[in-house]
Amino acid sequence: MKAVWRLLHLATATTLGTLRSTPKVTRIHHRLELQDAIRKTMRRHHRTTSPLPLRILLLLDIDRFRQVNFSLGYTYGDLLLQQIAGRLQTLSPCDLIVQTGDDEFGLLMRADGKDQLSPIIQRVQNLFHMPFNVMEQMCYINVSIGSSFIESSASIEQSLHQADQALLAAKHTGKNKHVAYNSLNKLTSVNHIQMETELRQAILENELILYYQPRLELSTGNIICLEALVRWNHPRLGLIAPNDFIPLAEESGLILPLGEWVLREACLQKVRWLEAGILNYQIAVNISPCQFQDEHFSDKAIHIIEKTGIDPSYLEFEITESSIMQNMETTVAVLDKLCKMGISISIDDFGIGYSSLNYLKHFPIHCLKIDRSFVKNIQSNKDDLAITNAIIHLGHALNVQVVAEGVEELSQLAILKETTCTTIQGYLLSPPVSVFDIEQSFNQYNRPVMIS
Ligand code: C2E
Ligand code: CA
Ligand code: CA
Repeated sequence: MKAVWRLLHLATATTLGTLRSTPKVTRIHHRLELQDAIRKTMRRHHRTTSPLPLRILLLLDIDRFRQVNFSLGYTYGDLLLQQIAGRLQTLSPCDLIVQTGDDEFGLLMRADGKDQLSPIIQRVQNLFHMPFNVMEQMCYINVSIGSSFIESSASIEQSLHQADQALLAAKHTGKNKHVAYNSLNKLTSVNHIQMETELRQAILENELILYYQPRLELSTGNIICLEALVRWNHPRLGLIAPNDFIPLAEESGLILPLGEWVLREACLQKVRWLEAGILNYQIAVNISPCQFQDEHFSDKAIHIIEKTGIDPSYLEFEITESSIMQNMETTVAVLDKLCKMGISISIDDFGIGYSSLNYLKHFPIHCLKIDRSFVKNIQSNKDDLAITNAIIHLGHALNVQVVAEGVEELSQLAILKETTCTTIQGYLLSPPVSVFDIEQSFNQYNRPVMIS
């Protein structure tokens, strides 16, 4: 949490004290001022209500707001924040809404019991399900939320600190999440400086391992690609999922050596399989936006490819829409360079990022991976089905492969076949598995899992 809360608009103590049940969004420039605003709001209610109602303090941080500003402009960002504030104002029973930083909000909610935390969070998250429409440009926004309870006016400072910690944990463990202070787990409560030091060591000491998840071509029933997904085999905490450490790696800059380790290891593994004459599939490697924006990214990738001796046409780089929206000119140059070498490019988590599809014309893209969130409810949710259908048709029109991610059920598969989806990935076929397990499956079936 930032130590200094930026002043965007002056709010006097009087305005803060006179907030009504659907308060206006007040801008706060210092943490102490927020503490003061909470105290005044609570005191005001204490005079009228007895006993003092329980309060839930929520701190919200808009995920990747910097990227929105960067790619769509500051005017867009400001207008977007106004719309977000407008949606937050529809929440009740809410005593106080403050904008506590460029892209941070604080909310003080009244509750009868602690069991109301979950429905309140649900209501906040629901506000972000619909896209925002700013300057005729649609945009989906996710928020990270940290929460704590305020049970007495004496504990305001402590509760604020707790909500800060919870928000930090939400941001560090994958964003688009809510973390309640009292549910901070062993990983999120570990001192982040310590985690960062441990992750640095992990890269050097080979504590990272790659799992592989197959992608199946529906027309032939063949596996065509294996996606490399990193895990951290932590000496004390056991196997840690990437969503629990990639955000920390991105924030600390460790994503650069980590990403290089992943690419090198995936290339070496592919060369080993080629030499053994097994698992003759493409290998997909996830490239984080921070990695992609590194000016030396393509040179580093080429160096690894040359050193490991992999034929680049076996490689696919999975990048997200936000990566390529950052700097169009550089992106075109980098992607052209990679494509000329024979590397394929796929757009990961397609559909949840920026809705401008204009970029698709400019970039050499081979594959769109439909985000799991659309596939999840494809059987029951008409909107998700419509979006999936639209992406599949877009893929056909652009002559690129379309992969449906996160396919878990046969009923989802049946619908995807009907919608003429070409390839799938998901637990139905196989979860990501270790090298040992994937080689075992190969020996047994000549493909990880047979599905009809
Ligand atoms: P992703 O690239 O979208 O990878 C797919 C994630 O969905 C994987 O989670 C996979 O286990 C999960 N998944 C696959 N099929 C299903 C399914 O049927 N149902 C459900 N519920 N989940 C399914 P995982 O391995 O935990 O990775 C999470 C994310 O971490 C990845 O999402 C990717 O963004 C990131 N990541 C993983 N490895 C790397 C890496 O080497 N580098 C970078 N930069 N990011 C990575
Ligand atoms: Ca991926
Ligand atoms: Ca994905």
